[in-house]
Amino acid sequence: MDLFSLTLCQAGTLLKEGRISAVELTRAFLERIDRLDPRINAYISVDPEGALEAARRADSIIAAGNRKELTGIPLAVKDLICTRRLATTCGSRILENFRPPYDATVIKLLEEQGAVVLGKLNMDEFAMGSTNEHSAFGPTRNPWDLERIPGGSSGGAAAAVAADMCLAALGSDTGGSVRQPASHCGVVGLKPTYGRVSRYGLVAFASSLDQIGPLCKTVADAAVLLKAISGHDPADSTSVPEPVPDYPSMLEGDLKGIRIGLPKEYFQVEGLDARVKEAVEEAIQVLVDLGAQAEEISLPHSRHAVAAYYVIAPCEASSNLARYDGVKYGLRDTEQNELLAMYNATRSRGFGAEVQRRIILGTFALSAGYYDAYYGKASQVRTLIIDDFKQAFETCDVIAAPVAPTPAYRLGETIEDPLTMYLSDVFTLSANLAGIPALSVPCGLADGKLPIGLQLMAAHFKEASLLKVGHLFEQAAGFDVKPKLD
Ligand code: GLN
Repeated sequence: MDLFSLTLCQAGTLLKEGRISAVELTRAFLERIDRLDPRINAYISVDPEGALEAARRADSIIAAGNRKELTGIPLAVKDLICTRRLATTCGSRILENFRPPYDATVIKLLEEQGAVVLGKLNMDEFAMGSTNEHSAFGPTRNPWDLERIPGGSSGGAAAAVAADMCLAALGSDTGGSVRQPASHCGVVGLKPTYGRVSRYGLVAFASSLDQIGPLCKTVADAAVLLKAISGHDPADSTSVPEPVPDYPSMLEGDLKGIRIGLPKEYFQVEGLDARVKEAVEEAIQVLVDLGAQAEEISLPHSRHAVAAYYVIAPCEASSNLARYDGVKYGLRDTEQNELLAMYNATRSRGFGAEVQRRIILGTFALSAGYYDAYYGKASQVRTLIIDDFKQAFETCDVIAAPVAPTPAYRLGETIEDPLTMYLSDVFTLSANLAGIPALSVPCGLADGKLPIGLQLMAAHFKEASLLKVGHLFEQAAGFDVKPKLD
């Protein structure tokens, strides 16, 4: 068997038993990246030296009998998670050469476990987008069809996992950016509860929505990675001191008595592709066959989620991105000799079109006289969406829905049409607005070649329920096809 096609859990067992070494495993991935990435463009930077050094260290830890769950496991991280060793670009020209002076908490946790970081993954600039075409480093291509988008903004992460160019990856999800690319690339993606995983060292896009999450080949792999990165962090005041369950040991059992809520509004959305609807309905039938009870529920305010999100996220972004002024970080336009002109020139050159659009939208919506009408109103709508979920979780344990209304678009299809791109986030935004956890699991292929995802959502800190339902579904549905790349 090719080492790169192992799952994280399988590789862990082989490493523990001494049947493969971390160095061998890391080499297999570095070779695979060399061979495939020129076509896919999932990586912004690769770190062969650092990875092999970490792998050698991992091998000696394993030899000494001290292996932890991630020791020797080759992973990659989205390029907005700060790494002291590697540039952290956020997919932007403005941070092209930025080397953070510190590691994000999740990186420290991975390193404490002895994981191997292969490199940094491509993304829509500052995580704004759903196609990965808004990257200053060129678009990532979907391994299932190189003429299509992988989804975004963690498109590099999803493509790298789908193409076996890492065992698993970390992405970030502000409005769907882990789940939607996972769905388009046929991998598993989890957005944890807001506060479950430290955001320290995650470059901020919209701070009240952002959360780091794993993209993996299987749900069991996601359980391992989630456990490793979760927990309270004194450096992130929004991280929650809630104990971290042993997720990997909570996957087995059955679904008897589990109540699955089906939000009626989600299945009536205009533009829901018939192939997606059918695949998701079949997936729900699999859950019912496993003993779950399906019941219709209502999330009446979810139809306002797109409007509320596309006010709140740009507002927070306009404030967060004010720090890129040519003085403190990265790019500076040196042609100007007057301060305001320097700010203008730096930000015009450094930010791409989508980021500029969001900054302008957010600045407008926050300006005096408009604040109450836009940000204030959107925040009120957000509260109604939170209440919808509270009520829904009184009668159901897990909510099932589509992830994205259509399979992956062709490259270029929405680049001139931001509104269509925004509307495609209709099923994922609510979980961020409410702060609840949500999982995307592959559930079928449109036309036999384009992956479709099933989305599962649960109440705050109920990741274990999501992972269990997702795992049992995965076992029963047996989605084990892979893109053909060789
Ligand atoms: N597609 C959404 C946006 O463009 C979500 C992005 C994300 O989750 N980072 O804002």
